[in-house]
Amino acid sequence: MSIAGSDKGAGTRPAAVFLDRDGTLIEDRGHLREPSQVVFFPRAVQALAALQRRFRLFIVTNQSGVAGGMVAMTEVRRVNRHVVDTLHASGVTLAEVYVCPHHRDDGCACIKPNSYFPQKAAREHGIDLSRSYSVGDHPCDVELGTRFGGQGLYVLTGHGRKHRSELPDGTVIVEDLQSAADWILSHRPADDGRE
Ligand SMILES: [Mg+2]
Ligand SMILES: [Zn+2]
Repeated sequence: MSIAGSDKGAGTRPAAVFLDRDGTLIEDRGHLREPSQVVFFPRAVQALAALQRRFRLFIVTNQSGVAGGMVAMTEVRRVNRHVVDTLHASGVTLAEVYVCPHHRDDGCACIKPNSYFPQKAAREHGIDLSRSYSVGDHPCDVELGTRFGGQGLYVLTGHGRKHRSELPDGTVIVEDLQSAADWILSHRPADDGRE
């Protein structure tokens, strides 16, 4: 009797979507200090529910307000825990929430668009970055996908409209996270790179 799936080997590593938090998944209301300030975008949870059928989901967030003293790391963690728990209650699982707490002038390794956290996900979760995506409302979120060898998408929620003119030519621009999910799910891996 053959066992389905027993021939799994190379090429079966999971792909991932690396999501920005503020302005992409939830409303950007400045430096969030408590769970009551979290407001999910209307179609965000559905979008993640659709994506997780084919991708592992991660949040990668720059929280320079920690370095600037506007918000404490414990507050960032509490807000992130609320985001994780709320999604989990809706059937959506986040693999990790990665936070860079530094200021851009600190010259740290982990601030986006550096691919530090996606590389960590590749090592610790076996993610195939070449088939993975980043999504966010800032040019650095798109650049992140380019840096890790995948594809970045830009959303027009949050600060998206404000920074739109700073994007490189050819950037994939979509209305919101649901539209990003639709775009990603309509592009099979074999079609990647043809945009
Ligand atoms: Mg953002
Ligand atoms: Zn950092």
